[in-house]
Amino acid sequence: MDLIPVYPPLKSDLHSHTACSDGKLSPVEYIDYAVAREIRVLALTDHDNMNALEPVLKYVKDKDLPIRIIPGIELSTTWMEGTCPYQIHIVGLNCDPSNARLQEIIRINKEKRDYRVEVISAKLVKNGVDAKDLADYLSVYQQAGTFITRKHFADYLIKNHIVPDNSAAFDKYLTKGGLAYCKVEWGSIPEAVKVIKDAGGVPVLAHPMRYKELNKKTKYRDRLVDYYTEQGGVAIETAHPMMKSEEKKVARDYASSHDLYSSYGSDFHERNVPERAMGRDLWLAAPSKPIWEHDQIKDYFKQ
Ligand code: AMP
Ligand code: MN
Ligand code: MN
Ligand code: MN
Repeated sequence: MDLIPVYPPLKSDLHSHTACSDGKLSPVEYIDYAVAREIRVLALTDHDNMNALEPVLKYVKDKDLPIRIIPGIELSTTWMEGTCPYQIHIVGLNCDPSNARLQEIIRINKEKRDYRVEVISAKLVKNGVDAKDLADYLSVYQQAGTFITRKHFADYLIKNHIVPDNSAAFDKYLTKGGLAYCKVEWGSIPEAVKVIKDAGGVPVLAHPMRYKELNKKTKYRDRLVDYYTEQGGVAIETAHPMMKSEEKKVARDYASSHDLYSSYGSDFHERNVPERAMGRDLWLAAPSKPIWEHDQIKDYFKQ
């Protein structure tokens, strides 16, 4: 199978996080890192918020840095299929952060996250975690206005040697059936698609090959792509670093059979994680409609 580099003239990455959600770098550190890696087009796509956008744009402008930022977001949604809820991420690229409905969804999702922080904390304390120590750890993020994710809890469990690594944290504590699991019902896929479009953005089905439960039931994964497309979805991610070429082919075929644009991104969260290294190894299985040709995106790639 032919693999082609993403828009070759400019290095780009269309999915990444800062410390405003579960990334590790502040907005300024994040830009310094991207510029050092010679990224020229970068989509900022924090979970359920766009708080990093203003400081990022200000820093780029003040320093006159050679990088264009696509204002984005990664919205959490819940997709019900049969009796099972699945958490599906919809990235929005080129969103206007002042859109009223988008702001409303951001507010609602923040409330859901705040509630979940309380439930997960209580369950961890029941399971022997020190209440004050955990509250002190979380309060640093709460005071900074961070959108706290399950990854913050995973980091806490690893730091305190309660679990050896991230996947153990999720398996034992944070996913369905785990000791500190808290169910959240996010908004629907059509609602996310609509609000992204209303805010002038392009909806992108994030990392379709990384939903563990759906990889076990590929028929459901097919249905997800069908449903997303029926509901007005425009693009789908077809590459991230370390993705196997067979997976890229499946994702590319989803894009072409559903007439979706192909997007891509590392899902960068922090330095030194090769499978999420910013801007690296983003080869696509030759797509029919690359996202850099989309009318609302192409100007970011102008030379
Ligand atoms: P949340 O949005 O709070 O559910 O947290 C999402 C973050 O948790 C994502 O950025 C993932 O990196 C991480 N995550 C979710 N599920 C898993 C899992 N099963 N194993 C490892 N990390 C996960
Ligand atoms: Mn994340
Ligand atoms: Mn995601
Ligand atoms: Mn992400």
